[in-house]
Amino acid sequence: MKRGEKAGYPRFQGRNRFDSFQYPQVWRGGKWTGGGKPVDEGRKVYLPKVGNVRMKMHRPMEGMPKTLTVKREGAAWYAVYACEVMDTPLPATGSSVGFDLGTNPNFLITSDGEFVEAPRFFKKAERKIGQLQRKASKKKRGSRRHRELKRQIARERGRVANRRRDFHHKTARVLVQQHDAIFHEDLNIIGLARTRTAKGVLDAGWADFLGILNAKAESAGRLVRGVRPEYSSQDCHVCGHRQKVPIGRPYICAACGQESNRDVNAAKNILLRGLDGAFSEGHGVAHSH
Ligand SMILES: [Zn+2]
Repeated sequence: MKRGEKAGYPRFQGRNRFDSFQYPQVWRGGKWTGGGKPVDEGRKVYLPKVGNVRMKMHRPMEGMPKTLTVKREGAAWYAVYACEVMDTPLPATGSSVGFDLGTNPNFLITSDGEFVEAPRFFKKAERKIGQLQRKASKKKRGSRRHRELKRQIARERGRVANRRRDFHHKTARVLVQQHDAIFHEDLNIIGLARTRTAKGVLDAGWADFLGILNAKAESAGRLVRGVRPEYSSQDCHVCGHRQKVPIGRPYICAACGQESNRDVNAAKNILLRGLDGAFSEGHGVAHSH
């Protein structure tokens, strides 16, 4: 959760005196003990001796809150809750999914034919950061104007990071809720990064996303596995025939005639490879395809 800069700072003695302070126990016996309670449907947070402070809740709280740290980063104040999350296995859905890490504008494409778009926000924000950097490079280092621009860049970067993390959490949550087993391209396999860089999407933060997905899957008792990515866009998911298909064109198999979206075909291959591997490893994965 983050406090918007405009909301008026809590008045501490001297603005540089505290960069952070902590409420060590915000919750006990199923109740808020005083500080840290979100009020007004999460639009404010109650801080003892300060009052209700406007905030922007970036994510719903999960688990039981333990401590609250209020800290400053640049001009922004953040309320960071450390929560204890119990592992709560989700009920089996009988569904498995594979996904292809997408190229713009898609973040990922699933074997069910779902296209998850990357938020447009990032492009705009990155343009803005670029502009600010160019401006800053023309100012004298250490000058007031230079410092001010650096501060703006840091704030903008922080915003992008927050929004991205948020988007990653939401996307991972949906996948984990809907599927018992989730398969993706293995990012550690050399070559993939190069292809992706060429398409200019490495910055989408796949590694961060897969980390979040793995953590959520683990506490929900779901399976997440990386599979070999080679030829996933070239192989026909029905008959296995291999052919090149240009980006943006449908996959029309020269051997069996099946026609599908190029990326969905790739995602289906990833699912098939994942299921093969998962079964040979002895995992009990239910699937239907
Ligand atoms: Zn085919």
